[in-house]
Amino acid sequence: MKINIDDIPEAGLDLDIKEEGSALDEAAGGRLDFSFPSPVEAHLELSRTGANVQVSGEIRAKIRLNCGRCLNEFDHDISLNFSDYFTAGRVEEKDKELKPEELDISYLEGTEIDTTAMILGQVALDVPIQPLCKEDCKGLCPKCGADLNIAECACDKGGKTDERLAKLKDFKK
Ligand SMILES: [Zn+2]
Ligand SMILES: [Zn+2]
Repeated sequence: MKINIDDIPEAGLDLDIKEEGSALDEAAGGRLDFSFPSPVEAHLELSRTGANVQVSGEIRAKIRLNCGRCLNEFDHDISLNFSDYFTAGRVEEKDKELKPEELDISYLEGTEIDTTAMILGQVALDVPIQPLCKEDCKGLCPKCGADLNIAECACDKGGKTDERLAKLKDFKK
């Protein structure tokens, strides 16, 4: 959804919003390696000083991603708190040398905050770098590609370890 900053009263604004998973997927435009199988809920507290807006919030989302070991899809729960800063003000000449990232402020094109993009950005920061479907996922066999969580395959995977052990034994002699 879009929030017009002119609608934020001086006293601030509390909002409970729900974004459809499909809307978030669409906003991501296939650029992310996870998707939203269900609606995302967020509690937002907005406060405004002139053209500057601070958003503090809490996001609860379920994301669907692929395990880094077995490649199977699984759902991962995300619960995060964040703060974001926006300004609809002109970028002053003196500020131009500072990139928005350095100031940690997002410059708005108009006067609207796009909560879909904001939620997407925050969730993306919270996605595990090495996602695992479970702590002890056995992954795929490097030789035949079988999912070792389902069944052991017939491949001999002990080769490397045995080699090292054999060398160790030689050393001891
Ligand atoms: Zn896995
Ligand atoms: Zn195998």
